[in-house]
Amino acid sequence: MTRERARLERRDLDKERGEPVAGGAVRRRPSAPRRDFRPLSEWDRRPRILITNDDGIESRGLLALKQALEAIGETYVVAPDTNQSAVGHAKTLMRPLRVRERVLADGSVGWSVDGSPTDAVSLAFLGFFEESFDLVASGINYGANVGDDIVYSGTVSAAWEAAINGAPAFAISQEYYPHPDFGLAARAAATIARNILEHGIDVDELINVNVPAVREGEHEGFEVTRLGERVYQDELIERLDPRGIPYYWIGGPPPSGVPEAGTDFSAVVNRRIAVTSIRLDLTAHDRLARLRTWDWRLAEPRVEPIAKEPPEPGERPHEAGIEDEMSDEMERERR
Ligand code: MN
Repeated sequence: MTRERARLERRDLDKERGEPVAGGAVRRRPSAPRRDFRPLSEWDRRPRILITNDDGIESRGLLALKQALEAIGETYVVAPDTNQSAVGHAKTLMRPLRVRERVLADGSVGWSVDGSPTDAVSLAFLGFFEESFDLVASGINYGANVGDDIVYSGTVSAAWEAAINGAPAFAISQEYYPHPDFGLAARAAATIARNILEHGIDVDELINVNVPAVREGEHEGFEVTRLGERVYQDELIERLDPRGIPYYWIGGPPPSGVPEAGTDFSAVVNRRIAVTSIRLDLTAHDRLARLRTWDWRLAEPRVEPIAKEPPEPGERPHEAGIEDEMSDEMERERR
């Protein structure tokens, strides 16, 4: 077989597999999301609501959220094909993304992507649906996302990605519950969605909601909160694989938190639905003045260290050498 024929055959095979071909079609990016907030009765069409969930396309929380928001607008579902909890704001750039049409448990159609929650939202805002969205709802996550959790949370990151794309968004999570009942969280989601569509939020803002694991009649209402402080209890668990090689789990008991009044953690502990406004601007504005008092002269150019004798085989590298080098540099700085 000639090389040229092999190349052509390979290309045909790639097409069959759906591999991207260089110079292929680029989807049209939809117009910027409309931020035209007013009472739902005054909308000239039903709001378009994008639904996602980091627990995956088959998660019960996603279905509960979609069903809760169907009363308010047209829902579009796109979510990771597997559980992507705690992947943070990961975005897939070094491999293609596969999107598959899926039938949800209620018979409706959604889309799964073999990527992160951020990828799912990115696809939507880069034109996968060829529509823009009036609201993005991420959840209902199985497990709270309070305080420091928000930097790990795929649920919050998905809403964050929507906010970066200029769309109003909220994340909603429910505390762990042995037999998840999303009844209360679903009603809370509808309340949040209506409020955002009617009152609006800022372009540099997203809303994070946490629902206690109680039944609908047992909650103590909503509380507007600030982010609390998590206390993680992670443990490194070492096990042996069948070949005797150790492998590791990050495990341990679920995180606790500092039960300070006014925080999301405290609200959920006290059976209230915590609603927190999160600003995209993470700048510590009150610390900038202190930072300006530091010594901002550029460091001296790096001088090549004097070659050292290589360590004898089996001998640990001479670690003191690194310290010597650093103190030399510090010495130069002082002069
Ligand atoms: Mn999750």
